Amino acid sequence: MSDHYTSLTDKVALVTGGGRGIGRAIALAFGMCGAIVVVNDLENAGAAETVTAIDDSAGRAEVTVVDVGDPAAARDMVTGIIQRHGRLDILVNNAGINPVVPLLDATQAAWEGAQRVNEWGLFHCGQIAGRQMAHQGSGCIVVIGSPAVADAYADQSLYCAAKAGLQMLAMNMAWEWGPLGVRTNVVQPGWIETELNREYLWSSPEVRDRVVGVIPLRRPGVPDDVARAVLWLCSEEAAYVNGATIAVDGGLLAGRPKI
Ligand code: NDP
Repeated sequence: MSDHYTSLTDKVALVTGGGRGIGRAIALAFGMCGAIVVVNDLENAGAAETVTAIDDSAGRAEVTVVDVGDPAAARDMVTGIIQRHGRLDILVNNAGINPVVPLLDATQAAWEGAQRVNEWGLFHCGQIAGRQMAHQGSGCIVVIGSPAVADAYADQSLYCAAKAGLQMLAMNMAWEWGPLGVRTNVVQPGWIETELNREYLWSSPEVRDRVVGVIPLRRPGVPDDVARAVLWLCSEEAAYVNGATIAVDGGLLAGRPKI
């Protein structure tokens, strides 16, 4: 992972869901650039491992264990970061869950849980972050979206609906907060090999081959692929990029294949 984005040095960056997978890769990438990384997760173990890895590479990081789907806790978390560091420069809204369930069997609790984490988490964290960034006159929000904003997937209605709402919330942030100096962009990962989709995409060799076979670059994505795009969006190199949606998917969406 590159550490050449010097504009990220000393920036205070909050990464939600940074305890594993894509969020961990993003947190490590910010750490390598000299940012002060606040690693959020639902449980301490994963987030603490991420922080240790950043510390080991001479970076600076801290853990905050909070459910971003809990409005009060999420707001307190962001307020606390601003109080501790005096500012917040970057929010990466990455935490997500994908409860795979046929729509006819989905419970109210599962529906609400998916909305709270995948969509409302951005409102909970983003509003406080946005106020602070507007006050600073600068800031950068990156939302980890999904091709599910426009494509239906079997048994993933809860996820698709929440990600579609998330996408529009991000676009409205870009529109309303751009004039205040706050840039908001979306990164849309394709099929990245993580725990989120291990069971249904990667555990059977036959399915894995089918998945890789429809990705034009003929390999699964890895979390670092996504992290590189996030770093660039938060850097000065992307100073005029606002309201963009960048696919990091090996070309998947060029043909919109289904497996
Ligand atoms: P993982 O399941 O590997 O990691 C998700 C992380 O988010 C976990 O550390 C998890 O914590 C944490 N998390 C879950 N719920 C909460 C919560 N309420 N509050 C705080 N943290 C939480 O997933 P990925 O890394 O694959 O996914 C990251 C993002 O990328 C998600 O938004 C996902 O929708 C998106 N994405 C992923 C794709 C892929 O192919 N992998 C494709 C498209 C989008 P814990 O381990 O404690 O549960």
